[in-house]
Amino acid sequence: MTGPKIGVVGGGQLARMMAPAATELGFDLTVLAEDSGVCARAVVAQAPIGDYRDYETLAAFAREVDVLTFDHEHVPTALLERLISEGINVQPRPSALVYAQDKIQMRKAVDRLGLPNPRWAEVRTLDELLAFGDSIGWPLVLKTPRGGYDGKGVMVLDSAQQAAQESASWFEQLPQRTDFSALLAEEKVPFSRELSALVARNDAGQVEPWAVAESIQVNSVCDEVMAPAPGISDRVAQKAQDAAVTVATELGVTGVMAVELFEVPGSDHGFLINEFAMRPHNSGHWTQDGSVTSQFEQHLRAVANYPLGSTAIKGEVALMKNFLGGTNDDIFGVYPALMKAYPAAKVHYYGKAVKPGRKIGHINLTGSRAELSDLRQQAAQAASLLTNGLA
Ligand code: ADP
Repeated sequence: MTGPKIGVVGGGQLARMMAPAATELGFDLTVLAEDSGVCARAVVAQAPIGDYRDYETLAAFAREVDVLTFDHEHVPTALLERLISEGINVQPRPSALVYAQDKIQMRKAVDRLGLPNPRWAEVRTLDELLAFGDSIGWPLVLKTPRGGYDGKGVMVLDSAQQAAQESASWFEQLPQRTDFSALLAEEKVPFSRELSALVARNDAGQVEPWAVAESIQVNSVCDEVMAPAPGISDRVAQKAQDAAVTVATELGVTGVMAVELFEVPGSDHGFLINEFAMRPHNSGHWTQDGSVTSQFEQHLRAVANYPLGSTAIKGEVALMKNFLGGTNDDIFGVYPALMKAYPAAKVHYYGKAVKPGRKIGHINLTGSRAELSDLRQQAAQAASLLTNGLA
């Protein structure tokens, strides 16, 4: 008797955090690892090493599993289409994944679905960018449609003059790019904060959203997440959840998806859509300790096409604080002090080597609404111990 065998492409922390959920359910999790050092390798029984960009490597891995899913969004959709034509079960399918890979495709889909986009344009030359800036006004945000992460591939341009100086090299490189032929220009949204509408959908069409969370970035890296987003109106929360459900349903997404939103008070919906992530997401790590079903368990249930679990929040508020590598290189050395001072804090360390600025783990805490500022303080202090060591 065996449960579903799930193959994850990529061996980062998201694959690693799927392992406890797979263990609980008795599913068999295997990982296609980039190299021997990736952090998921330490926690799964099988983790062959191979290049996911090589079709034969990917196909050999995929033929051994019941369903192929992902730790990241980088697998070329052409390779995934080929796997499907071989009869392999790929979840999410490339026809959905493309909207997480390509921001221009994503903007077009959001328009098609009648959901709120920032004003945007596809630009191929500096002149087209300047014309767009002149028509909607500066500042603008210029993005590479593919390959960006943690703010890399995003440029804020305050004026036509700055655009001419700083974006010229991006346009000069365009003809040599094989992955895209235009850049994405957007209005710089005057948002009050960033929100995340997390949802999961299985192949049978069941969709379950979690509470809409607030996500705070520092230097373009996710730093802290609070669920539900403090003070969010019922109307905006409902519209944001509805938008995520619409995207998941209409684009045929399977597994977990985060719809990243800019909150814009006074706008029609109360928010504009930033982008989609089609996999478990940093803004959903709070669900490990703060939701009846964690995003990692839900992802496995969804891609294996089982009924989805309850997304009810445990307690009134859930909080997640990331910790980055810093001056402390002895993570376990600070555990005694941390565990003594913050017995309710749940530490999730990814087993990664400490490198300055690298995301190496997070802290989760749950509690009552009245405790929120105290919980935030505790989480920040615990994270600081891990990053900076004992004072
Ligand atoms: P990545 O794919 O690297 O995460 P994003 O498109 O999410 O890139 O952009 C990174 C960050 O840049 C966002 O979290 C947001 O803070 C800011 N940003 C992106 N687009 C806009 C925009 N149109 N207006 C204002 N800020 C933006």
